[in-house]
Amino acid sequence: MNGKEVKEKEEDKGEASGNADYDRAELPDLLRIYYSRLFPYDKYYDWLEYGDRDTFSHREFSFTLEDDVYVRYQSFESRQALEDSVRKTRPYKIDVGAIFSVRPSMRSRVQQASFKALRKELVFDIDMTDYDDIRTCCQGANICGKCWKFMTIAIRILDRALREDFGFLHLLWVYSGRRGVHCWVCDEEAIQLSQPARCAIVEYLTLVQGGEHQTRKVRLRTPLHPSISSAIKIARRYFEDLVEEQGFLDDAERWGKMLALVPETKRKMLQQEWEGRPRESGRDRWRRLWTEVQDVTKNEIMLQWCYPRLDANVTKGINHLLKSPLCVHPKTGTIPLVSRIEPNSHTPFLPSLLPLFPSYLPSLPLSLFSSTPLSSCRQDMCSYQHSGIWTHLILLQSPLSSSCVQSWIS
Ligand SMILES: [Zn+2]
Repeated sequence: MNGKEVKEKEEDKGEASGNADYDRAELPDLLRIYYSRLFPYDKYYDWLEYGDRDTFSHREFSFTLEDDVYVRYQSFESRQALEDSVRKTRPYKIDVGAIFSVRPSMRSRVQQASFKALRKELVFDIDMTDYDDIRTCCQGANICGKCWKFMTIAIRILDRALREDFGFLHLLWVYSGRRGVHCWVCDEEAIQLSQPARCAIVEYLTLVQGGEHQTRKVRLRTPLHPSISSAIKIARRYFEDLVEEQGFLDDAERWGKMLALVPETKRKMLQQEWEGRPRESGRDRWRRLWTEVQDVTKNEIMLQWCYPRLDANVTKGINHLLKSPLCVHPKTGTIPLVSRIEPNSHTPFLPSLLPLFPSYLPSLPLSLFSSTPLSSCRQDMCSYQHSGIWTHLILLQSPLSSSCVQSWIS
């Protein structure tokens, strides 16, 4: 991925910050405050070091600077070197890459063949735009609480599969800051995975196949694989609500998409019934469909509508960059401070609950905005640490420091 590709990817999805307080002209100031006063360098270093300095110093970081200047293959010998560079350059975006055989910043001093990406967390990227053919509330970069339900289901299905089918323990789910989620699997076994192994895992976790013109995108075989059975159980918990909220069966055009997967005789019967009862709710229509069609059809419909849609290339390539947790999203002004998503939490994570950067700035102590040395505004830092924002930071930090890192050190 080069700078031009990154720029195009950012731009071709359109603008939709969802943050009315955010004025991009303020971004340089926001970045100065954030990276000089708020960014948790210690915890960030603790995570990416994994108890081994070489692991950190051989890691690639990429910075996107003002005007989409894109600087790859940066590496830092220490936490302090990273902090110095970030504070100085105030990147608009930080991407994290692989751990290389040679420090990335030294790559020009060695032969090209000996500069190799060796290890990286196993990562997953789920983007809401991949649901544009089925969601009805928003399109493109827009998201809302209704379509976020697709993400909630995807996270639960994928989290279960990674933990129970593969035995991974250290999963960090992060809101990407705009329209999707990332998962960083930080177990040692995951970091060591070869490229073919990553390809095999993403194929195992891919079920929905075919472009927008393909009608049937999921084909199940019986007996069902246990992983598919588990995914169906999760999907079923949400599907009635999803049908109602998204209006999948609200009119002939919409129900036509779903009925296209139903055998012809049943399809005609249901069509006639629904046309004769135009005020019937989508939920009732789904319940009617449920009683009429075979299990395999019901399951294929549910999975086609809500099984995780992964960006496979992000997972496959060891050398693929992924936006760093905790870095500001330049399009939305969002810092994913509360981005730790608990897959099994009873309170669903919603991006709209995030504190958006400009709107919470007034609640921070004034000295954070000045050039006063941090050591002389300890009192203010204390109050900041007791504010809600600090709680969010702690939330994000805890899986990094307590579970991932400890398992590496012990
Ligand atoms: Zn929506």
